[in-house]
Amino acid sequence: MSESVQLETIAATAGVGTDPAFRSVAPPLHLSANYAWNDPLDKPQYDYARSGNPTRSQLEEALCALEGAAKGVVVSSGMAAVDLVLNLVNPGELVIAPHDCYGGTHRLLTARGKRGQFDIEYVNQTDIEALRTAFTRKPKLVLIETPSNPLLRITDIAAVVELAKECGAITVADNTFLSPALQRPLELGCDIVIHSTTKFLNGHSDVVGGAALAKDQKLGDDLAWWANCTGVTGAPFDSFMTLRGIRTLFPRIERQQKTAEDVVNALSENKRVVAVNYPGLKAHPGHEIAKRQQKGFGSMFSVEFDESVDVIEFLRKLQTFTIAESLGGFESLVCLPAEMTHAAMTPEARETAGISNRLVRFSIGLEHTDDLVRDIFSALEQAAAAGDEKVAFLPNKAASKCA
Ligand code: PLP
Repeated sequence: MSESVQLETIAATAGVGTDPAFRSVAPPLHLSANYAWNDPLDKPQYDYARSGNPTRSQLEEALCALEGAAKGVVVSSGMAAVDLVLNLVNPGELVIAPHDCYGGTHRLLTARGKRGQFDIEYVNQTDIEALRTAFTRKPKLVLIETPSNPLLRITDIAAVVELAKECGAITVADNTFLSPALQRPLELGCDIVIHSTTKFLNGHSDVVGGAALAKDQKLGDDLAWWANCTGVTGAPFDSFMTLRGIRTLFPRIERQQKTAEDVVNALSENKRVVAVNYPGLKAHPGHEIAKRQQKGFGSMFSVEFDESVDVIEFLRKLQTFTIAESLGGFESLVCLPAEMTHAAMTPEARETAGISNRLVRFSIGLEHTDDLVRDIFSALEQAAAAGDEKVAFLPNKAASKCA
């Protein structure tokens, strides 16, 4: 597809009209595990589905076009994508990672670090001085996760890339929270972008998948080699479903983001709310960086309620929101990171990262704003200690705080 084609068009048409056999509009799903050779010395384009298959290739091409990558590989989960890039690091070399990254990423880095597969240093990546100090150790690879899960902290991607380039480190950005619809880390100088495609890219909470996409062909070839070697490549059916999900990525995100802004504004007005972590708020410490490097603020946010709110009871009382892991789907979800997504981190690591036991993370879906706000306020009212004043029931839209 030509470079001038807009990302929305790439997403909407990914794989469409590519069937040479019957000219089916929706692409066929190739489930075959193996492909026949014409001759023992004539290796076909596809021979074995772990190494490559046409359905996965279509998804890889779509993801590369959306992220501006030269070569990418679709893998079986977001964690497989994180692990895949760690193959680029040798024992004795250093990986720098955010101290407040997704709990599963923290668990993997810590476990592999303990086994001596590389050295690991966790850094508060919003602190440029802390980053500078860490870079004096000359890392081989730096992992960025921005906005971070679950605190929605913003890392200045270009600033990290500048430090990484000075010492020849590979920069990897986890773009799961925004997707290429709202942020394109390779454009900002990163070498690799990774995704849990489980989230916004598939968007329908029915596939677990991942991807690692490289700006440069050689790095992409290395990733594809390791993915085939270790057997973490994605399944054809999952690729088919994810490609299908991507076609509606842009309208989904646009709508989810608008609703998230309305819900955030309503919550920010509430006296029981101590903090709302959403980069779209002008008071968010990363707001200006987010404005610069993102095309929107997304539909994820987290909230700290005051002591009057029994947080567990709040979660139990929610009806429209589902208590569940994951994010970025059509359905609104809520989770308690300390007990769920970040339970694998030690309490000390969570404390260092700033993830309290009372932090609640929200992923906004496609429901109507009023229903979501009503649900939150109703649960909040029920969870608040008896005798407390009633909380406001409906949002004050005029008091909007998002930029
Ligand atoms: N990266 C981020 C930012 C995530 O939030 C997650 C999962 O929540 C992952 C990676 C891991 O993805 P998966 O669950 O598809 O393995």
